[in-house]
Amino acid sequence: MEIIHTVAELRERLDGHRANGETVGFAPTMGALHHGHRSLMAAAAEHNDVGVMSIFVNPLQFAADEDLDTYPRMLEADTAMAESVGVRYAFVPSVNEMYPEENWTTVSLRVVTEPWEGDSRPTHFAGVATVVTKLFNIVGPCRAYFGEKDYQQLAMLRRMAADLNQPVDVIGMPTIREDDGLAMSSRNLRLLPEHRAQAHVVSAALRAGIAAIDAGERNPDAVESVIRAHLTEATHAEDPDYVAAVDASSLLVPEQLSGDVRVLTAVRFGDVRLIDNMGTTIAGEPNT
Ligand code: AMP
Repeated sequence: MEIIHTVAELRERLDGHRANGETVGFAPTMGALHHGHRSLMAAAAEHNDVGVMSIFVNPLQFAADEDLDTYPRMLEADTAMAESVGVRYAFVPSVNEMYPEENWTTVSLRVVTEPWEGDSRPTHFAGVATVVTKLFNIVGPCRAYFGEKDYQQLAMLRRMAADLNQPVDVIGMPTIREDDGLAMSSRNLRLLPEHRAQAHVVSAALRAGIAAIDAGERNPDAVESVIRAHLTEATHAEDPDYVAAVDASSLLVPEQLSGDVRVLTAVRFGDVRLIDNMGTTIAGEPNT
């Protein structure tokens, strides 16, 4: 595996591969890699001729009071994991390489970015959409792999690639979980032991919401109540930032659930904010 630090070098390598008729798979990350990231990198490497991953902690997507400075950084372990799943290139640019000048251009989306994470983190999604657009422009035509773990981000990026005709196939990959159901996240490292011991309630609560839908519940407010009731079992969890049952592509709450549905939540344990979601499909019912 080759570690590449500059835009020009990565472009040159990947243009060369495409000129030979090879396909490119891309897995963007912020590092501190765990098995969730590993599944994206493995898919990029296995389902394409050339696998590329990137590690870049993007300042643009962190608000001033967020954890940019303390975000975990562990480059050696990360590149070893990328190499172990067959990735050919790790793109590790500096902040100056990605933003040599003050950034005057921002990509932002309406509707899908407005509720939920958008409410709690008003500048976050524009930061993500902007850096992912830059990465897509640097990597060029490819399949790009993102986790369902960050479901609203995935829905935004699918829509962005379609709206802007980006030459990228955005592919969602299932959430990888710990044995007790906690969705893997680089931020889990910062949970205190007593918080870690209770964090399984987040996925258990979402599973209960999905079970209610699968049993025939179609009222999104009723599904929300089921999830909230389960979350109150954790004494260390603060009131969730949000709980919702939504349409899987717009992320809006419909009057009645139908088609592809997602349940979403964000819960704080101490300083650590955990997000998670799950999906189901209501088959064979006409939309109301
Ligand atoms: P991050 O490094 O947190 O920006 O995440 C990079 C990519 O890994 C994003 O597409 C995430 O959705 C994905 N990811 C993070 N955690 C998981 C997980 N537990 N399972 C699957 N994908 C994940």
